[in-house]
Amino acid sequence: MLPRLVIIGSGWAGFYIAEKIDSSKYDVTTLSPRRTSAYTPLLASAACGVFNFYLAEDSVRSKARVKQHFIKSNVIDIDFAKKVCRCAPAFEDDDEQLPEFDVEYDILIIAPGCIPNTFGTPGVEENAVFMKNVSDAMKVRKILFDLLEKANLPNISPERVKELLHIAVVGGGPTGIEMTAELDDLAHKELKGLYPGVADKLSIAIHDVAPNILSAYDQKLYEYANQQLVNRNIKVHTNSHIEKVEKDCFYTKEDGRIGCGMLIWATGNKNVPLLEKIEVRKTPKGLKRVITDSRLRVYQAGDGDVLHDGVFALGDAGDIQNESLPTTAEVAVQKAKYLVQILNLGGGNFQQHEPFKYEQKRLVSYIGQRDGVIAGDNEHEGWTGHRAWLAWRGSNITWNRNWRSRIMIVFTWILNSIFGKEIAKI
Ligand SMILES: Cc1cc2nc3c(=O)[nH]c(=O)nc-3n(C[C@H](O)[C@H](O)[C@H](O)COP(=O)(O)OP(=O)(O)OC[C@H]3O[C@@H](n4cnc5c(N)ncnc54)[C@H](O)[C@@H]3O)c2cc1C
Repeated sequence: MLPRLVIIGSGWAGFYIAEKIDSSKYDVTTLSPRRTSAYTPLLASAACGVFNFYLAEDSVRSKARVKQHFIKSNVIDIDFAKKVCRCAPAFEDDDEQLPEFDVEYDILIIAPGCIPNTFGTPGVEENAVFMKNVSDAMKVRKILFDLLEKANLPNISPERVKELLHIAVVGGGPTGIEMTAELDDLAHKELKGLYPGVADKLSIAIHDVAPNILSAYDQKLYEYANQQLVNRNIKVHTNSHIEKVEKDCFYTKEDGRIGCGMLIWATGNKNVPLLEKIEVRKTPKGLKRVITDSRLRVYQAGDGDVLHDGVFALGDAGDIQNESLPTTAEVAVQKAKYLVQILNLGGGNFQQHEPFKYEQKRLVSYIGQRDGVIAGDNEHEGWTGHRAWLAWRGSNITWNRNWRSRIMIVFTWILNSIFGKEIAKI
């Protein structure tokens, strides 16, 4: 009988392992509430019609992986002594109370990622839009078009139009800035033609609690990005504290009530509920992550350096002891690659393998109108402009690992440049 390899999560880390693991060596099961894996860096572009939604995700089920099992469920607890995951079927809109069940493992890979953190801000869960999955990207597009149609009604006041067509993006990191950039591009091109007299009233503002946007970049680059956005009439509110969010407005400590048609929450991570439950060593403050050794093996809870047998953690939910890395797809994929290579060699004595080494790639962000920023290094202070945009667009293709989708993305770009985006069709 083959060793049972169970993967918790079908995101960047879990999906990579399911895709690349040698199924002739392991009996593989993925446990996840999602049967697709989102290419998160592509969500903002998909929401704004740069390519079709289905190109921003991949299916866990595939002809190439027929030997593997997928069970649509949330892992709610892990019994490490018995090597069992307790699972609850995951069907959001289903009233049927399906019973829980157990899945046994010999090797367990914990990769449930993390979820958006609202920092307890009242009304965010109910009224904001998040950007984590393709369903969120679809929601953004649907809301945007509903807002434009409402603003186009004959009996609507100019004051109401102003509020309806105000979009607030909370979070000035790469996710929030790229969302803003794609929305602004859309407003300046396709929407102007589709909604004459309406689209030009669309306004976008970024709110961030920090003193700068894109603070992971050097000062020169984040100041450049800020200035470019301001030049395009995008309001950048740094040091802005959101106090509560309501259906048609939100309140900041600095400016009080601000009316808006849509608020996109693109900031903060918190751990999934499973991490509260399980008996492993975790990071003590802030986002709880499972602490691993440098070979991604999970420590038991407590002070002794005792490892759980055959248990690994990676992606946003895992972090290496004393070598903390950011919660990014880049880190998740590099760790998944490392682990799968060893497992495909047969696993065995992990100690004989080299520890994981992270290779930092350049940060690239899109800031709209074919402009972007690329982080520098000791030899170069970084790049901006068209070159950065090209690098970012190029990375869009490499994020997607499915060749069919890659070809479709390039093909859609060509069609878009000739005929414009097929944006209004949802
Ligand atoms: C809009 C956006 C843009 C981004 N852009 C970039 C970028 O340009 N570059 C970059 O490097 N990073 C980027 N990131 C960050 C990147 O997406 C994350 O770091 C990455 O998703 C982490 O991978 P993961 O596998 O740990 O978790 P995820 O990809 O979040 O996957 C977690 C999986 O686990 C499942 N799950 C959750 N709980 C359970 C449970 N209890 N049981 C079973 N399954 C569970 C989830 O449903 C999901 O399938 C971006 C993130 C967002 C949201």
